Amino acid sequence: MRVFNFAAGPAMLPLPVLEQARDELLDWRGCGASVMELSHRSKAFAAVAEELQSGLRELLGIPGHYRVLFLQGGATGQFSAVPLNLAGADATVDYLNTGYWSKRASNEAQRYCKVHIAADEEASSYTTVPEPGKLELSSGAAYVHYTPNETIGGVEFPYIPDTGRVPLVADMSSTILSRPLDVRRFGLIYAGAQKNIGPAGLCVVIVREDLLGRARPTTPSVFDYKRMADDTSLLNTPPTFSWYVASLTLKWLKGEGGLTAMAERNGAKAQALYQTIDASGLYRNPVAKNCRSWMNVVFTLGDAELDKRFLAEARTAGLTNLEGHRSLGGMRASLYNAMPRAGVQALIDFMRDFERRNG
Ligand code: PMP
Repeated sequence: MRVFNFAAGPAMLPLPVLEQARDELLDWRGCGASVMELSHRSKAFAAVAEELQSGLRELLGIPGHYRVLFLQGGATGQFSAVPLNLAGADATVDYLNTGYWSKRASNEAQRYCKVHIAADEEASSYTTVPEPGKLELSSGAAYVHYTPNETIGGVEFPYIPDTGRVPLVADMSSTILSRPLDVRRFGLIYAGAQKNIGPAGLCVVIVREDLLGRARPTTPSVFDYKRMADDTSLLNTPPTFSWYVASLTLKWLKGEGGLTAMAERNGAKAQALYQTIDASGLYRNPVAKNCRSWMNVVFTLGDAELDKRFLAEARTAGLTNLEGHRSLGGMRASLYNAMPRAGVQALIDFMRDFERRNG
């Protein structure tokens, strides 16, 4: 039985994508072999690479002067690759600290350059984002880094920071493709695939062309944006199966109406769940209302015993992976593109029923 899987990542994939991958598994497009068994340099596989690249460009409306790279090492790899490519050892870089992932990013950057924390939301226990006018950006920073959606805290920026001429770098792992995006506002965007793009093993980097060619000489070649761009991300063997499933996912997205349709659907899903939480006497979401995440909805029940019962009963009802991140506890429902409205409704119905019985 397929469940409604609320995992934060690797996350649910669209059922039609899984079905197509299953149907094509043994014989991909008449090759007599699985796509997993093809050379990444074969003509047949070049079609997958092309579909992945053009699919992403079309969905996000990526301008011609941006390059799209498909790398390995996850978003965590990019925590190092960004400073190595964009900042010299003496450079200062600005980071907005809004939770677990932005902190992980700035900690890693500290190994390579001087990190200035331009905003820090620790005082609110990371339930807020900084006000647009309150960013303490340093003059002459090599870039400004932020995490538009904190996957663990369930906190999301309702605006794109204005950094003037300083390149803005965004870790969009848990928000990319959830709605339309003005790529021009960014110098660089990166995102692990395992939430809204496809399976794990693939990390997307969208980088403005003028930022290429600045990597430190010691940068590993597989993390050197220019080398990867020059080799169309085929400097070494890529995770070919991930590329393939990601290309299917992008086609599915397009067929569903693209990012405008996703925005409507995702907004409605999140709103319905937050309304349920706010209307209840049992569940609580600690995040400030102006920056509640569409993708990761966190809530608490305020009692460890009740948490356990909630999770066990939810699992029995076919609603899985609702436990919060190990660092935070509580509950978290991740509502990425592949989570249907019916899944959210099933969760809401379950939550109301659970409250009636335990509230
Ligand atoms: N950044 C964000 C916002 C994330 O949600 C995650 C993973 N959940 C990461 C970075 C780390 O990604 P990876 O495990 O692919 O390195």
